Amino acid sequence: MLNFELYNPVNYVFGKGQIAKLPELLPANTKILLAYGGGSIFKNGIYDQVKTALAGFDVVEFGGIEPNPRYETLMKAVAIIKEQNIGFILAVGGGSVIDGIKFVSAAVKFNGDPIDILQKRILTKDTNAVIPFGGILTLPATGSEMNSGGVITINATQEKLSFGGSALFPKFSIVDPTVIHSLPKRQLQNGVVDAFTHVLEQYLTYSHDALLQDRLAESILQTLIEVGPDVVENPTDYKLASNFVWSCTMALNGLIQKGVPSDWATHMIGHELTALYEIDHARTLAIIGPNLYRVMFDSKKEKLAQYGKRVWNLQGTDEDIAKKAIDKTTEFFQKMGMLTRLSENTSNYDGTADFIVKRFEERGWTAMGEKQNITPEKVREIVELSY
Ligand code: NAP
Ligand code: FE
Repeated sequence: MLNFELYNPVNYVFGKGQIAKLPELLPANTKILLAYGGGSIFKNGIYDQVKTALAGFDVVEFGGIEPNPRYETLMKAVAIIKEQNIGFILAVGGGSVIDGIKFVSAAVKFNGDPIDILQKRILTKDTNAVIPFGGILTLPATGSEMNSGGVITINATQEKLSFGGSALFPKFSIVDPTVIHSLPKRQLQNGVVDAFTHVLEQYLTYSHDALLQDRLAESILQTLIEVGPDVVENPTDYKLASNFVWSCTMALNGLIQKGVPSDWATHMIGHELTALYEIDHARTLAIIGPNLYRVMFDSKKEKLAQYGKRVWNLQGTDEDIAKKAIDKTTEFFQKMGMLTRLSENTSNYDGTADFIVKRFEERGWTAMGEKQNITPEKVREIVELSY
């Protein structure tokens, strides 16, 4: 097992009716920015629950954080925080709102141009240099409620870039599985596929000796396979909803990544497809992931065979099982409503591989993946195979 440090200070508050605990979780005598997205919280009753819990607090609102949150929008929140002497941010939404608020938290006291947090990937490690924040999750998928990373899109340059640092964990996250009742089917499907891919990024690497980490990863995959298709049809079933939500958090709260290698190239390439074509994050992963495993087959085949045996109960030679496991993954994504080819998601995909390869080379991203063997040539092959 590789050496590791496990640090996760998030007070994770899970279950029905937990939004009512908000007053105990917020700091007293502090002006609060209540941040949210495009307005789903007004329709599903979450805003009312939050406002009731916030009675007596001094609150300023900031709405309009878009899916794939924009740097330009978030800088408006940074200005409000500075002007109005805000001391704490409450993010109410999915991954986009929570990620967006992580960026705002890091940007307010940043010494320099905050765009560097994204473009120069400057880590945020100093807890004195951030505005503390907490979250109320409304969409299970990203794990953002219990990790310290995020992804922000810069409109001006059409870039979607990740950032993070140990000072960017939420102080608390309230996760009530009943909030998924109002989610459109498409977002439920996206949540299952994003969480599933998060596990694969940390699991489908090379064989290693971290036995428990593999078993943890496999158990999350199995749970998502078991509940995913049903929760999309029955989001009001609490057994399905609660297991789905907790699986999404466990997929990316840092635990399964400890002591093991990880890949993340599917996410890096997927982010480009969202930046270029506005394809939903999870849908880009369903396009790229299986094709990345096809192109990197020799490098990943031992782990693919383990995945095929333990998660999909496949039989045959290791080589056969490894290949079938990739097809099983595509079939699962299709069952979850994904269109797994780029050409099914946009008609305007000519030159995509050239564009992405050029960008990665400009950024110096020429050796990705757990073995640093996903080179620009491999990226080109993966993207072209995905057309
Ligand atoms: P999202 O972009 O936060 O939300 C998608 C849509 O769902 C929005 O239109 C939102 O509407 C709506 N919605 C949210 N909760 C709802 C509810 N309870 N009922 C009805 N509608 C609801 O989706 P997401 O998948 O959670 O986040 C995606 C972003 O996270 C991407 O930018 C992705 O790159 C990033 N990401 C982050 C991490 C990480 O570790 N931090 C990992 C993977 C991906 P409103 O805006 O109106 O609320
Ligand atoms: Fe993701």
